[in-house]
Amino acid sequence: MRIARFTTGEDPAYGLVDGAGAKIAEITGDPLYMKIELTGRTYAVDDVRLLAPVIPRSKVIGIGKNYADHAAEMGGEAPAEPLMFLVPNTAVVGPGDPVVMPPQSQNVHYEGELAVVIGRMCKDVAPEDAMSVIFGYTCANDVTARDLQSSDGQWSRAKGFDTFCPLGPWIETDLDPADQRLVVRRDGEVVQDGHTSDMVHGIAALIAHASAAFTLLPGDVILTGTPAGVGPVQPGQRVEVEISDIGVLSNPFVRH
Ligand code: MG
Repeated sequence: MRIARFTTGEDPAYGLVDGAGAKIAEITGDPLYMKIELTGRTYAVDDVRLLAPVIPRSKVIGIGKNYADHAAEMGGEAPAEPLMFLVPNTAVVGPGDPVVMPPQSQNVHYEGELAVVIGRMCKDVAPEDAMSVIFGYTCANDVTARDLQSSDGQWSRAKGFDTFCPLGPWIETDLDPADQRLVVRRDGEVVQDGHTSDMVHGIAALIAHASAAFTLLPGDVILTGTPAGVGPVQPGQRVEVEISDIGVLSNPFVRH
């Protein structure tokens, strides 16, 4: 199932998107908490505005350097244990929403990533049980102020600015996350072309590691790391993150 959050100008609603990504069948409430029931109303995707498919209730957990080729381009090796950081939920925006580049940074980078959406409250999840706590998957851009990431010495500000965590276009609940191609385009040019099978720590290991520290809540999001090819974005450019069996997340970058 593909679950989108959208608006027609009224309050946000949820809906099921068809395989072609053309139509949305509205459902009665938030599928993280309610049984899925159709309202009977349908819309063309082109006639609605898609919103971030989930607003994390408590946290977005980022994972640093989880692809060896990206760790190498950052000048190091992938860490032996997953390296976690937290992104505030106020950084989340949806498909098509502008990423606002702040005046504090002169070097804003895209990072295309597979995002995992947690489906239920859990703690100390064993790796063999990890897939059972997943609601679904979406595309993410872990936007990073690269200059502040190094000058601050930690990553809260560099990755936590408002609009720095685009998610979408929808949540795919039926996905083999181990076998997805991840392509990022900047103004149409392919700049990242990776494969989720190249993650250093797989999704089950990430959930086990994160839940050993934090209680995970429904709607929490784990960003699983980016492959090689990160780079700067200029104001006016558009970045697309495409994951084969999910779709395309596309956002313009602007400077006010
Ligand atoms: Mg990242």
